Amino acid sequence: AKDAGRNGIQFYDEAMDARARTRLALEYEIRRGLENGEFEAFYQPRVDCLTGEIIGAEALARWRHPERGLLFPDSFIPVCEESGLIRELDRQILAQVARQLSRWAAQGRVLQVSVNLSASQFGDPQLAASLQGILQESACPAQRIELEITESLLLAHDQHTLDTLASLRAMGFAVAIDDFGTGYSNLAYLQNYPLNTLKIDRSFISGLPQSSAIPELITSLCRILSLNMVAEGVENHAQLDWLRQQGCQQYQGYLCSRPLSLAHFNELLEHSTAP
Ligand code: C2E
Ligand code: CA
Ligand code: CA
Ligand code: CA
Repeated sequence: AKDAGRNGIQFYDEAMDARARTRLALEYEIRRGLENGEFEAFYQPRVDCLTGEIIGAEALARWRHPERGLLFPDSFIPVCEESGLIRELDRQILAQVARQLSRWAAQGRVLQVSVNLSASQFGDPQLAASLQGILQESACPAQRIELEITESLLLAHDQHTLDTLASLRAMGFAVAIDDFGTGYSNLAYLQNYPLNTLKIDRSFISGLPQSSAIPELITSLCRILSLNMVAEGVENHAQLDWLRQQGCQQYQGYLCSRPLSLAHFNELLEHSTAP
């Protein structure tokens, strides 16, 4: 029995070791992928609830892995966050978006694109300067870009976060709270931050129109605080009808489209006409 116990422990250690090696190998691969430009922005349309017009998009990272094909964020974002590589990933996605916004502008298309900004970036004193550099390289005005941050960042409500957000707003970026309602949000602090948009998390949209208490509350909150409201994960017309009636301005979701490669998103733009 003693031996079995010892073997058990040994087996456990080996499993831990194997996991650590796999994680390290993945981190190495991500680093190499970032150097080789294998990460790519996909675009999910942001749609005007009333007119059905595509007014912009959210940029979502995808990894075109040379052997394993197209990979989704759940397979690389956690390791990016743990290793600090998330800064370089977010920087690359923003740079692609800024360049593309300039190309669209040259074609006479005015769109606003949102990008996800990891909360860990807010510890970086160079954040504003680094974003400024990216905009200058692409000659893209900050007004065309909305930065999506999560509620947890606001929970800390420290002066540094507030100052950073204020300087990003002063540069012209719009700021959205992502996945709103899923964390514990101190509503009193919501009004102290310079925000433009609340994005209601998909988990509250999926129950509409039957379970509407929380979406109703968030709609009122947006009205009172004069915030733009975006519903995430809208998949059917019943959900959209409810949102329209409540005065929600914009939505994203499979009802319009999944996130698309740039080429496919451009095709959708060409062929879409407001209903
Ligand atoms: P998120 O920012 O909340 O993005 C929305 C997620 O919901 C996306 O998953 C999108 O594909 C999915 N989605 C959109 N509409 C629907 C719908 O109607 N139904 C359903 N079931 N799902 C829908 P995705 O692309 O897998 O991204 C997952 C998460 O990874 C994102 O959640 C975001 O937190 C993170 N992420 C993605 N790209 C980046 C990035 O460039 N930087 C950072 N920091 N995080 C990123
Ligand atoms: Ca987001
Ligand atoms: Ca979200
Ligand atoms: Ca999310």
